[in-house]
Amino acid sequence: MLSWQTISNSPEITETIGQELGTRLRGGEVIELVSDLGGGKTTFVRGIARGLGSHDAVASPTFTISRQYRTGELTLYHFDFYRLSEPGIVAAELTEVINDPKAIVVIEWGEIVENVLPVDRLTVTFQSTGETIRQLIFNYPRKLNYLIAKEAEDVNSVD
Ligand code: ADP
Ligand code: MG
Repeated sequence: MLSWQTISNSPEITETIGQELGTRLRGGEVIELVSDLGGGKTTFVRGIARGLGSHDAVASPTFTISRQYRTGELTLYHFDFYRLSEPGIVAAELTEVINDPKAIVVIEWGEIVENVLPVDRLTVTFQSTGETIRQLIFNYPRKLNYLIAKEAEDVNSVD
């Protein structure tokens, strides 16, 4: 696995980092976002949608569990499992879109569906180190190297 990290000191910068990632997506990627409440996950998804060229409004899918945003020829699926205690039918829906090469799947609070998430995914962990400071840590297998602009550190020689 490769690891790369950066610091954001405002919601706008977090959105810009997400936007940069959005411009690099090709379809078929799965991105898991990990943080406490208010860590910046949904803000980051707003940037991803912009980077993909979507003009749709991005809001937290906490109550609807999933939302989708139209981009050119790809669809961005945004899941939030915060309120779900049983994966059930939503896990089935998730599995279906994970296997769609024209879909990009972003997941908040994905622990409950961990077993349906592919090993080859990008995980972004947000750590709040101050009111407006967020450390963003990207972990991903080598085959997703095209998603990251900067040189990453190889933290594990086995992909
Ligand atoms: P989550 O989806 O992880 O619960 P949100 O993106 O919904 O988080 O909310 C993040 C909150 O933290 C927003 O109120 C935002 O204004 C605030 N915030 C402060 N600094 C940052 C930052 N550097 N990056 C992202 N959000 C920030
Ligand atoms: Mg959120």
